[in-house]
Amino acid sequence: MLAEIADIGCDRRRGGYSRHVFDGAERELRGWFADHAARLGLDTETDRNGNVWAWWGTPGPGAVVTGSHLDSVPGGGAFDGPLGVASALTAVGALRARGGTPARPLAVVVFAEEEGGRFGVPCLGSRLLTGAIDAEAARNLRDPEGVTFAEAARAAGLDPARIGPDPEALGRIGTFVELHVEQGRGLIDLGSPVAVGSTVIAHGRWRFTFTGQGNHAGATPLSDRRDPMLPAAATVAAVRRLAAGVPDARATVGRLVPSPGGTNVIASTVDLWLDARVPGGGTQALVDDITAAARAAAADEGCALTVRQESCSDTVAFDDRLRAELGGLLGGVPELATGAGHDAAILAPHVPSAMLYVRNPTGVSHAPEEHAEPADVERGAAALTDVLEHLCR
Ligand SMILES: [Zn+2]
Repeated sequence: MLAEIADIGCDRRRGGYSRHVFDGAERELRGWFADHAARLGLDTETDRNGNVWAWWGTPGPGAVVTGSHLDSVPGGGAFDGPLGVASALTAVGALRARGGTPARPLAVVVFAEEEGGRFGVPCLGSRLLTGAIDAEAARNLRDPEGVTFAEAARAAGLDPARIGPDPEALGRIGTFVELHVEQGRGLIDLGSPVAVGSTVIAHGRWRFTFTGQGNHAGATPLSDRRDPMLPAAATVAAVRRLAAGVPDARATVGRLVPSPGGTNVIASTVDLWLDARVPGGGTQALVDDITAAARAAAADEGCALTVRQESCSDTVAFDDRLRAELGGLLGGVPELATGAGHDAAILAPHVPSAMLYVRNPTGVSHAPEEHAEPADVERGAAALTDVLEHLCR
């Protein structure tokens, strides 16, 4: 099924896919999803936050909900998000073919802006649904072109005034299950095509803005410079050094934007985004140490520094009973902890939630090399079909 969308949102510059919430590619994918849902006899609706729901049966409390997202990181792989959506549609088709009608309402959901690739906050659609992000703060998020989330939402046909917590939509979910391509080499090492998720480690994003003095690259002596690129570079090195001292910590600078960004111009500001993930409660302590190193480097160059947290999530453990139930149902497949964030982890504090992972033979994700073999994709969809059938009883 993913072959049908292989040409949508290809990124010629980075490779892979760039599909960002409410952009042309993501809207085309929403259309693709709605077409499939219609062919399966599902009723599709878009909620106040731009999440799409396709219902089998009357929407209502106690529903079994499955799904994932269709947006990507810049230059992402083909499977992160779409595999969960396509597998959900495949599973509904298989249940239809088995005959009968589920005893509970069943829905396939597509969450908006899971990657935070356009507006910076990951799982924005599920955070808004559950009230995990303030509605006004979300409306004012800006994409790299300066368009606010409210403006983008209006252009996509939503009412920006209605963006925010949606207790009615949340209250319909009895159980949520998300299937996702595995994003590391956990399943390669376990020798299993499928696993049930156990935990998602704490993670967050911080934006560091270094401000110096923009100036001429030829006419400004080195001694007269306040160049924000220097403390930014020192901070990149400090991130690796400090994270290496914390067991199992992950800390990354994957985005660094000097402004104005000319070869013959000393930058006036540099924005640096830090992604930090530490198992247990150590994320803030690591970020504090990185911030101290960044402040010292900024002071050395006569630059100012502001640090702003863009998002933060605690460690999430998926529902114990559900994990055991699904593990047993699927013949004792292994459990897997992950360092990758998911909508299921945003929902988990509110409703019993679970995840299924499908093996990724490259162990690479958020990059074009991300992959899943057709046989494993089939196994994943079959597992999801059995899980939905079981939960709908
Ligand atoms: Zn994903």
